[in-house]
Amino acid sequence: MDELRSAPVAPQKLLVDGTWESASGAPLDVLSPIDGRKLTTIESAGPDDVARACGAARRAFDDGRWSRMAPAARKKVLHAIADRIEAEAAALTVLGVRDNGTEFNMALKAEAGSAAGTFRYYAEALDKMYGEIAPTAPDVLGLVHREPVGVVGAIVPWNFPLMIGAWKLAPALAAGNSVVLKPAETASLSLLRLAEICMECGLPDGVLNVVTGPGAMTGEALALSMDVDMLVFTGSGATGRRLLEYAARSNLKRVYLELGGKSPNVIFADAPDLEKAAKVSAMGIFRNSGQVCVAGSRLLVEQSIHDEFVQLLAKEAGKLRVGDPLNLDTHIGAINSEAQLMGNLGFVDDARKQGNTIALGGNRMLDDTGGYYMEPTIVTDVAPDHRIAQEEVFGPVLAVTAFDSDDDAVRIANSTDYGLAAGVWTGNLSRAHRMVRDIRAGVVHVNTYGGSDNTVPLGGVKQSGNGHDKSLHAFDKYFDLKTAWMQL
Ligand code: NAD
Repeated sequence: MDELRSAPVAPQKLLVDGTWESASGAPLDVLSPIDGRKLTTIESAGPDDVARACGAARRAFDDGRWSRMAPAARKKVLHAIADRIEAEAAALTVLGVRDNGTEFNMALKAEAGSAAGTFRYYAEALDKMYGEIAPTAPDVLGLVHREPVGVVGAIVPWNFPLMIGAWKLAPALAAGNSVVLKPAETASLSLLRLAEICMECGLPDGVLNVVTGPGAMTGEALALSMDVDMLVFTGSGATGRRLLEYAARSNLKRVYLELGGKSPNVIFADAPDLEKAAKVSAMGIFRNSGQVCVAGSRLLVEQSIHDEFVQLLAKEAGKLRVGDPLNLDTHIGAINSEAQLMGNLGFVDDARKQGNTIALGGNRMLDDTGGYYMEPTIVTDVAPDHRIAQEEVFGPVLAVTAFDSDDDAVRIANSTDYGLAAGVWTGNLSRAHRMVRDIRAGVVHVNTYGGSDNTVPLGGVKQSGNGHDKSLHAFDKYFDLKTAWMQL
């Protein structure tokens, strides 16, 4: 670990048509959130650089070097990529943690572990996707072919870059598409290494291209490209809205959005084990410093147990060690950037002004490290329409609201623009099913919070998005359907 954490990181390049290239603009400094120091630089791709990458992806798709390769051969390459991610899991994870600040213990599983599993899942699925023969009249043969869509532009955020990157790359490549990937400015390094691994494992030149740089320049150019047939995005609602505009202004490319959340975690007085509920709920909001799309950032507690449960939760939160994410006894790592940390503190200030109580934390910490750290924070006396209950902080800040009845819980749970995730804690089976039915969210956890795997889809309703990652449902969107109508 000591060697990996201090290994120099070479200045990074763009991957275009199988070659590592410089961009036309000046490189961007990469600061590590662990200590605020410069780690390396990434290229800042301008419109011409992005056009070269998209052109390369287009050519690679059109000449069939990957799109028409036998599925069994594509599968071999994807399995080889999974093998290499597993073999390099520690190094990839440390590189990613130095870049984005997630605690190592969690990142090892959620980043490298999950990325390898995702490449394997879609490698296994790709030669089990059949077309159809339609039940037409007997003198006609109606065939429904599945074809890759073409060039996929993938734009991903800084929390869990490898995991979320793999959620896009693996199914897109498995289906035979070419990809231009745009990582977040503050978490590009592990994805650049993943791209190198893909090349080393036999992915043909031009099939995967990586452009780094500011969203408003590099991401915009990618989203406006006439060479891109489809955008898959994970990030904020504000950027998601822009992508829909770019699609409308360019070639009507289809746009799949995985956006933010303000997910309610609902604790009923009849929950089977309140101590366990408090422990899991604390991790449900504070792991990765709350920088988790499905974080249970609103705690709705039945009035009769409100004070007792908040105390239990504060006790659990108090046990979490915040610090250097590469120390193995750290529970909670760093905030991704200083700007993000300042935004989090701004939410806490506004909560104070709105009359909420800061029951725990609320402050920056470990300033002497030069890094970006924040105390796990619990805000109580929150009304459902307060800012802290409505807007996504994307930091270690929990808003607590009391409720009186099942109807009240559902009303408050559904009272934001978001619908990504939820949790319900109850010993009553009927109530659990009613909550799953009535809470508008892409996933509802029952007597747990945050679990998932590749077999189930992840996606939001309302303003949390319009698509899914993971599972065979997510795979579908990387294919077009083509009908052959043949007179016999
Ligand atoms: P963001 O929207 O600021 O950035 C995401 C990506 O979009 C980055 O690569 C960025 O460079 C790029 N981008 C920014 N402006 C752009 C533009 N004008 N055109 C094209 N690209 C642009 O989001 P973020 O701060 O990186 O990520 C945090 C957000 O992501 C949170 O809202 C979080 O909830 C959400 N998220 C959702 C999921 C999910 O599965 N639903 C998972 C993780 C994160």
